[in-house]
Amino acid sequence: GSTIGILGGGQLGRMLAVAAAQLGYQVHSYAPERESVAAQVAAHHVQAAWDDESRLAAFAAACDRVTIEFENVPVDTVRFLSGHVAVRPGAQALEIAQDRLTEKQFVTGLGGRPAPFAAVPDRAALDTALAAIGAPAILKTLRMGYDGKGQARLATPADADAAWEAIDRHAAILEGFVTFAHEFSVLLVRGIDGETRFWDSSVNVHKDGILATSALPPPQIIRDQQDEARALMARIADDLDYVGVLTGEFFACQDGPIFNEMAPRVHNSGHWTIEGAVASQFENHIRAVAGLPLGSTATTALPVTMRNLIGSDITTVPALLADGACHVHHYGKTDVRAGRKLGHATWVGTNPA
Ligand code: ATP
Ligand code: MG
Ligand code: MG
Repeated sequence: GSTIGILGGGQLGRMLAVAAAQLGYQVHSYAPERESVAAQVAAHHVQAAWDDESRLAAFAAACDRVTIEFENVPVDTVRFLSGHVAVRPGAQALEIAQDRLTEKQFVTGLGGRPAPFAAVPDRAALDTALAAIGAPAILKTLRMGYDGKGQARLATPADADAAWEAIDRHAAILEGFVTFAHEFSVLLVRGIDGETRFWDSSVNVHKDGILATSALPPPQIIRDQQDEARALMARIADDLDYVGVLTGEFFACQDGPIFNEMAPRVHNSGHWTIEGAVASQFENHIRAVAGLPLGSTATTALPVTMRNLIGSDITTVPALLADGACHVHHYGKTDVRAGRKLGHATWVGTNPA
């Protein structure tokens, strides 16, 4: 079969569609939002709600396999589609990754070490959690958070009321604030036969909860902790019989890697692999989903820098284009809002000018 369905309309779906097209696949995309940047490069697009069963059934019938670019596709949607067509990764990976409590319990069960955490279903539970974990701490909504949205930091217990209001009184989790040396992620791809490959871990720098840059080579502490973090992510992927790219975010601390969260999909911290690795995260995700042999994850040249273009950063595109060594990616979004990821720029084998 030669048609791949992608659920979700964001830039990850767009870059997956480009990779799929390069391998000769037709891409059909499905997303509820009015403006989908994945749809701009797909052969066919369905704009419909996640619970529209007749549109979902027609979409499934048109696709040979389906994947996701967004981890908050409702699990019921993936279960429904799975009755008609292979969906990779499957509903179980999404169900775990959609809920921070379920995710941390699952990962702890496989030997991972998250920051100390406690469930905060209501305001009273926040006081109990603070007594157990102490401050500073971070309150995060259980579900739907991304780019640091749905989070509030507590410097002292006196910040509890403000933090609870800041997350709109949603069910949440309280996490101890981790003092880390650096942040990194583990990106792996797992094929249908279970073969697993890893890209090199970059050092990831966040500003205001949003990824700002990924760079290689990473500091020594990340290279020292990469193997332990990889082993955990491989156990997770094996346990889920996962197919495709799986990402784990980690804090490199003096006493080892602390698991932050996982994403059952391609990831912003892997965008550098488009030009900086033999096979990119997007290409290998499509290869895995399609049942093709995996491509090499080797880094092609150092140094590598990936810089996100967020909000008004997009106005720097003309200057970036003037640097002939810079690979510019513009996501084609027309709604230019502060804090929105609108593109990225990558340098391989050279530093940014
Ligand atoms: P993403 O867009 O990666 O899905 P998210 O909204 O799910 O982001 P997190 O990854 O939980 O958010 O947090 C965003 C950033 O905030 C982290 O990358 C890290 O820089 C910081 N952060 C989160 N949790 C903690 C913690 N417990 N201690 C210290 N810093 C943290
Ligand atoms: Mg997240
Ligand atoms: Mg994160």
